[in-house]
Parts: sequence; structure tokens; C-alpha cells
Amino acid sequence: HAKDSGRSTFSFFARDMDKNLTERLQMEAALKEAIGTEQLQLYYQPQVLISTGQVVGVEALMRWQSPELGSVSPGRFIPLAEETGLIMPLGAWCLEEACRQLAQWRQLGFNGLMAVNISVRQILRADFFDLLEEVLAQSAIPADRLELELTESLMMDNVEASLEVVQRLKGLDVSLAIDDFGTGYSSLSYLKRFAVDCLKIDQSFIRGLREDNQQARSLIRAIVQMAHNLELNVVAEGVETPEQLAILTAEEVDVAQGYYLGKPMPASEVEVILRSQGVTLRVNEKG
Ligand code: C2E
Ligand code: MG
Ligand code: MG
Ligand code: MG
Repeated sequence: HAKDSGRSTFSFFARDMDKNLTERLQMEAALKEAIGTEQLQLYYQPQVLISTGQVVGVEALMRWQSPELGSVSPGRFIPLAEETGLIMPLGAWCLEEACRQLAQWRQLGFNGLMAVNISVRQILRADFFDLLEEVLAQSAIPADRLELELTESLMMDNVEASLEVVQRLKGLDVSLAIDDFGTGYSSLSYLKRFAVDCLKIDQSFIRGLREDNQQARSLIRAIVQMAHNLELNVVAEGVETPEQLAILTAEEVDVAQGYYLGKPMPASEVEVILRSQGVTLRVNEKG
């Protein structure tokens, strides 16, 4: 009977929605509990200047190890945090922790950038700027060593509001990067109006890079040419193979980030790299 099967289909979906809702509520409650505890950590992924091989920056990436839910990827809990407003305390923690860590690494002689991802909900709130000023003052890092990553789609969804925010951020002298560039339909005229410092080419453009794929390579070339004309740095995300790195080098991309150069890692492992970099410099100076 059509009616019966219709009803059972409905109840199937209702049950499904119910399960999703329960899961979401459970995750929301767990995330709320996790903020400020060891469950949440920042990992850092090296950003390597291609011309010298030196680590010139790190990107802070959140990691959540929940006792009930296991390890939850930011791709799942960040959107949830945005919808529920938890992104505010979460984002504040991330910014504070990342700047505190950078201040510590600066004492080792590291003068690179700390890149921090910032969400829509975070940045469109007026008190974000108070937080930012407070964190910069507290950590005493030069503002331009902090690079805020804003996704291209976020900026294009709210062009006028974003322009205003970008202007204010530049007023504080922080560095700005457009994350996931190439996925958000920005036009050249917007890029000129947004006074950002850096474009991060989305990993989907790097994935297809091979010697035998001229089309993928042409896209990179076009982005680099445009970015350099606007005096923007270019970072390639998701670099996984030496072949990709070789092509990016030939196409004059400035900075590479990806598993081939280093996975996101705990602070202690970054420190090992930074120390070895410092030691190398000193040895070179003596020689
Ligand atoms: P994203 O900012 O574009 O970060 C790059 C993502 O690519 C990271 O995923 C990173 O681990 C991954 N990745 C790096 N190298 C490679 C590679 O060679 N191959 C592949 N396949 N992937 C690579 P992750 O850590 O899972 O983060 C996902 C997204 O979650 C980030 O994308 C960012 O949008 C968001 N996110 C992470 N941490 C934060 C945070 O503290 N605040 C906010 N607002 N968003 C965050
Ligand atoms: Mg990012
Ligand atoms: Mg990205
Ligand atoms: Mg992303």
C-alpha cells in the first residue's frame, strides 16, 4: 500500500533526523566540556619558503580528542561550533594559545609567522577586535607576525562587511591570508580591494599537479602571476609529493605547506625543527 510505505519512509527519515539531532546535541555538550581542557590541542604545520627550505611560518590547527567520541576532525566540530556559538570561546582559546606559543618560539630565535584560522561568526563580532588587541598585548608579539586566515568563500559571502573588517585588521598591522583560494569565486577587482598579504591556493588545485597535466599547471601559473602582480605572497597547500614541489618551484610559488614537507604536529616536534634550523644557521655563520 502506497500510504503505508509512505508512512514508513517518513518515520525512517524522522528516526534518522532524530539520531542526527541526538548526535549533534551530544557533540555540542562534549565540545563545551572540552574547551579549556587537555582534550583540545593545537597542532602546527610547517610552512616552508621554497627558495631556502626554511620554515618561515606554522599554521595552527585544532585537534580534539574526546573521551566519549574519540578523535573528532575540525571539519566536523568547527562547523558545529560556528552554528552553536561555541566558536567564540574556542576561537579565543586558539588565538591565545597560538600567540603564547609563538612568543615562546621567538625566544629560540624564530622570526616566522603564526597562521591562525578565523571563522565568519568570529570575525563579524565586534568584540573580536578587543580580543585580538588583548592577545597581542599579552603575548607581546609583533602584530605582523600573526597571520589570520580567512576563507575566500567567507569573504565573498559578505563582501562589504569583510572589506570593513579587513581594513580594521590592517589597522592593527596583523597579516592576512585568503585561505582555500580558488574555491570561492572572488573576482580580480575584489582581490585588489581586499588589502591582504597572502593567497593560499586551495589543495584541490595542488592535487592534480603532475608533469603530464599541463592544465593544472596553467592554473597555478595564472594564480601566481596575478598574485605577484598584486604583490601578494603565494602559499600552496596540500603539497604531498616531490613532483608537486618541483612544479611549484618552477612556477615560482613562494611557500609550500603539506604532508610532503611536514604534517600538522604537536608543539614539541615543531620545536625540534626550529632548533635544528637555528643550529644550522649558527654552523653556517661560523663556517
Ligand atoms: P585549512 O585551514 O584549509 O587547513 C588545511 C587542512 O589541510 C588541514 O586539515 C590540514 O591538516 C590538511 N592538510 C595539510 N597538508 C595536507 C596534505 O598534504 N594533504 C592533505 N590531504 N591534507 C593536508 P584539518 O587540520 O583537518 O583542518 C580542516 C579545516 O578546519 C581547516 O582547513 C580549517 O578551515 C578548519 N580549522 C582547523 N583548525 C581551526 C581553528 O583553530 N579555527 C578555525 N576557525 N578553523 C579551523
Ligand atoms: Mg587554513
Ligand atoms: Mg585551506
Ligand atoms: Mg579549509
